[in-house]
Amino acid sequence: MKLCLCLHCLCESYDSLPTSGQELFISLPDLRELIKQLQDRGYQFTPIDDGGDQTVTITFDDGYYNNRLFAELATEYSIPFILFVSAFYLSSGTGFPWLDITGQSYDQMHEFDYYAYFGANAGTAGIPEPDASVRPMTFSELQTLANSCQMEVGCHGYYHQPLSSRFENRLAQERDTSMAILRGSLNVSPRYFSLANGQYSKNVMRQLLNSYDKVFTIDGRPVRSNGRVVHRMSLVNPALGGPLIGQIDSALAPARRIKRALKTTRNLYL
Ligand SMILES: [Zn+2]
Repeated sequence: MKLCLCLHCLCESYDSLPTSGQELFISLPDLRELIKQLQDRGYQFTPIDDGGDQTVTITFDDGYYNNRLFAELATEYSIPFILFVSAFYLSSGTGFPWLDITGQSYDQMHEFDYYAYFGANAGTAGIPEPDASVRPMTFSELQTLANSCQMEVGCHGYYHQPLSSRFENRLAQERDTSMAILRGSLNVSPRYFSLANGQYSKNVMRQLLNSYDKVFTIDGRPVRSNGRVVHRMSLVNPALGGPLIGQIDSALAPARRIKRALKTTRNLYL
C-alpha cells in the first residue's frame, strides 16, 4: 500500500503551544516514533512518484517556519518531503488568518473568503503579527531548508483560498499569482498543487490537472500508483486525534474508507 501524509506544524514538545491552532501541532518525538513504526511495518519513505509498493510520502502544508525542525529527522532517516506553500504569506510575512480570527479554527475556514478579508484589510494592514511559533517562513529560510534536505516545493495557492465551487472563480488567481512569486523568489516552478483545506469541485480538479503533474487532497485514502490525484491522510495533534499510527489505521479501516470514498464523490459535485 502507498500512503501520503499531510502535516502542518512541528514542535519540540507540546509544553508551550500558542493558544490557537494547537490541533495542527505534532512533536518531533511523536513523529520519530511514527517513522519507526512505519519502517517496522516495512514502509519506505520515498518521493510521491516512486514506483514502489509499500511507500510513504511526507508532505507539509502552508509553509510554517517551524517546519525547519523536520530537517533533523529528514536527514537521519533519509526522508524526502514536499513542502506546499501559500506564496502570499511567505512573501509578505503576514500571519495565517486561521490563527488570528477569533472562533475560526483551521477546519472551519473552508468557506472563508480570503479575497474579501484581505481586500477589506487593505492588503496586510491591521492583521496582527503572527506568533513566532506559527509564523510563515521567509523565502530565504525556505531556500536554506531546501538546500539541506531532499525537499521539493509545492504550490498551495496564493491566499490559501479553498477552491470549493463557490470560489472556483479564484482558481486562476490562486494558481498564477503564486506560481509567478515562486518562480521569482525561488526560481522553481512547482509540479504539484495541494488544495487549501482539501476543498475542490470537479471543475477545479480538472483545471488543476491541466497545470500540474499531481493534485493533493486530504481525503484520507491510500495512494494509487501513478495516480494524479493524491488523497493524503491528514495527521493532527495526538492529544486530540490519538496516537499518529492509530490515526493512519483508522483512516485505513474499511468502513471509514467507504465513507470517505462517498464523500470524495460528493465533493466532486458540490
Ligand atoms: Zn493549508
